[in-house]
Amino acid sequence: MTLVLVAPLLFWGCPKNDPPSKPRATVSSSTRPITPSPPVAFNGDRAMDHVKKQIDFGPRPPDTEQLAKTRAYITNELKSYGLTVSLDEFTAKTPQGEKKMANIVAEIPGETKTLILITSHYDTKFYKDMNFVGANDPAASVGTLMEIGRVLASRKEKPKVTYRLVFFDGEEAFCEGWSECGNEQNPDNTYGSRHYVSQLRARNEVENTRAMILLDMMGYKNLELGRDPTSTRWLQDIIWQTGRALGYDKVFVDREEGVGGDDHEPFIGAGVAAVDIIQLTSYPHWHRADDTIDKVSAQSMKIVGETILASLPKVTEYVIKNNPQKVPDTKTIQE
Ligand SMILES: [Zn+2]
Repeated sequence: MTLVLVAPLLFWGCPKNDPPSKPRATVSSSTRPITPSPPVAFNGDRAMDHVKKQIDFGPRPPDTEQLAKTRAYITNELKSYGLTVSLDEFTAKTPQGEKKMANIVAEIPGETKTLILITSHYDTKFYKDMNFVGANDPAASVGTLMEIGRVLASRKEKPKVTYRLVFFDGEEAFCEGWSECGNEQNPDNTYGSRHYVSQLRARNEVENTRAMILLDMMGYKNLELGRDPTSTRWLQDIIWQTGRALGYDKVFVDREEGVGGDDHEPFIGAGVAAVDIIQLTSYPHWHRADDTIDKVSAQSMKIVGETILASLPKVTEYVIKNNPQKVPDTKTIQE
C-alpha cells in the first residue's frame, strides 16, 4: 500500500489533488498518520447498491417488517462507516391506528453544537393493492444520504459545526391523498419530521439548528431539479450555485417546482432554514407501481451527492457568519 502510494504523491504533491481513487471493496478505518489516503469521493454505484437493497425488502410502509429490515440495514451501514447512530422512536396516531415509528439519526460531531441536518424519509407510501417499491421515492434519496454519510465519516478533520443525518419515518400519508385525512393539528403525513422537530424543541436544540437539507426524489435518470418556493432562498441559492459551478447547470434549473408539502415544512415552521431538493412534477412514475430501479441512475445520485458535499462548507460558513436567529444560546459558536 505504502509503496503504491509514493509515486502519485510525489507527482501530485498534495493528496487533495489526487485523481479520484478507484472504488474499493472495503472502507479502511485505519488512521495511519504518515501516509494520508486519498479523500473518499461520493460513489454513485454504492448509492445504487443501497437502492437495490431497499427494493429487495419490498414495499416499506411504517410499522412493517420490511421497514424494520430497512432500518436495520441503514443503521448497520452507517455504523460500519464509524458513525454514531441512534433511533428516535415514537408511536404515531394515524388513520390506520397507532403505528410504531423510528427516525434514524447519525452524527458527525463538529467543533460546535451548531447543527446542520441532511435528511431524507425512508418509508414508502402504503398501498393496499399496489406493489409500490419506491425506487426514487425514497430509495434513491436514502442511498444518496447514506453515501454522503460514508464520505463525511471518512474525514479526519472535525467540521466547524455538527452535521446530523436524519432518516425520517412516516413521511407519506396513509390515506391516498396528502391531506385527505387528518387535520391541521394532526396531519396525515410527515410524522417523523414533525416528531423530530418536537424532539429538537424538547432538547433546546431548535436554536442551534441552522439549516436543514432535504433530499426527496432526486435520483431520476432524467434529473432536473426546479426550485421549491417554500424553501429558504439563501440555502437553496448556495446549493443551486454550487451545482451549476460543478457543471450541472442543466440539473439545477430555475423553474418553480410545486411540492405542496414535505418533511422540510415542520422545520420552516420552527424557524429553521430548510430546502427541499425534489423532482416531483416532471417525474412521471411518482406513486406508481413503475417507480422501479430502471428509473433511477447512479449518475443522478452522484450529481446531488457531490453538490451537497461541496455546498456544506459554504452553508457552514454562512450560518456561522450570519447567525440568522441571533439567539442567546450561542455560546458555543466561535466568532
Ligand atoms: Zn412519496
